[in-house]
Parts: sequence; C-alpha cells; structure tokens
Amino acid sequence: MQLPLPPQIRTQAVIEAIDPAKDVDGFHPVNAGKLASGHPFLVPCTPLGVMRLLAEAGVVAAGARALVLGRSAIVGRPMALLLLAADATVTVAHSRTRDLAAECRRAEILVAAVGRAEMVRGDWIGTDATVIDVGINRRADGRLVGDVAFDECLGHAGAITPVPGGVGPMTIACLLENTVTAALARRGS
Ligand code: NDP
Repeated sequence: MQLPLPPQIRTQAVIEAIDPAKDVDGFHPVNAGKLASGHPFLVPCTPLGVMRLLAEAGVVAAGARALVLGRSAIVGRPMALLLLAADATVTVAHSRTRDLAAECRRAEILVAAVGRAEMVRGDWIGTDATVIDVGINRRADGRLVGDVAFDECLGHAGAITPVPGGVGPMTIACLLENTVTAALARRGS
C-alpha cells in the first residue's frame, strides 16, 4: 500500500486491513505496538534506514541528545522510539514546539521530518551535530530539497545527509529488508 491515499479512502482502515505478518511498512497497530513496547518486528522503513545510516557513519546514539523534528506515525514517532531504544536522550518537536531553533541547537543528533523546504537553518545546528534530513520537498523551480538548508548547515554539522540521495535510498533498502524479514518469519526461520 502506497501512501498518501486519496481523501475519500480512510487510510487507517486500509492499514488495519493489512496482515501484520506481511506489513512490510510497519504501519499496522500491531507492529506499531510491538515497537512501542520494546519488541520490534516490522519497523517503519524510513526511521529504520536512519538508524542504519547512523550506525554505518559510526555515530553513537547511546547517551546522545537527539531531537526528532516531526511526530508523524510513519517517521517522527517510530524514529523517536528507535533512538530511545538505542539509549539516546530523545526530544520530539512539532508544530506547537516553542523556540524550535533553540531545541535544535541543543541536539547532537538532529532528525528533520517536517515537510517544510529548508526550514532548518545553519544557525539552528549545534557544533559538529549529526544532521539527518528526511524531508522531500519540491520547490517551484522543480528542484528537490530537504527540510534542512544544506549549504548553510554544512559548515556547522559534523555530518549531514543530502537530499536527494540520503535517507530516500535507505528507505527503499529497508523496505526490501523488511520483506525478507517477513518472509523468513512466515517460514518460521
Ligand atoms: P507529516 O506531514 O505527516 O508530519 C509532519 C510533522 O512535522 C508533524 O508532526 C508536524 O507537526 C511537524 N511540523 C509541520 N510544520 C512544522 C513547523 N513549522 N514547525 C515544527 N514542526 C512542524 O509528514 P511525514 O512525517 O509523513 O513526512 C515528513 C517529510 O519527510 C516530508 O517531506 C516527506 O515527504 C518526507 N518523507 C521522506 C521519506 C523518505 O524516504 N526520505 C519517507 C517519508 C516521508 P504537528 O504534528 O504538530 O502537525
């Protein structure tokens, strides 16, 4: 099932109609509950890909101050739970958060998933912070940009993902990984 669905279709009803054992996006309440209770099975692909990026880059989440910007069911919430499971100290920010810039500046790991083109500015980034840009936004001129103003943030961040070519390909890889995980679980292996 590919989101977003047209407005006349109840998205949650469709998600709940999926067999949790085949729910490779990890959106079904059974899989969301497993993740929230610390017993993950099929985990949403985008946050799973972000955790893989952090691991491959040698970023230690344990003990780090992490800020997740966005609280959607498909990115922000599961992202926060995965970082928490990795022993980060996690803050979740959203549209009602006061002084977002100050919250971001405190973060050693910043994951932006808001869907607002280049909202995160260079002076929002703490020195040497790891910045993961989940956002995909198309500008009026057709250019794809993230939620982070990449050029401005480059000089502040210790590491930063580009858009396109950062989180997006990891999401696809993790979808395939989840497909294999689900298939092996059904075989009982
Ligand atoms: P949603 O629109 O579902 O959620 C956006 C979140 O950002 C909400 O929690 C919202 O807060 C918050 N937000 C919106 N505006 C602001 C603001 N001005 N200040 C602070 N917080 C704000 O988006 P998704 O989570 O589905 O996606 C986020 C982005 O990630 C999009 O650009 C999407 O295209 C991209 N994406 C990329 C993927 C990839 O593979 N790279 C996969 C999935 C998504 P509130 O809850 O208060 O409304």
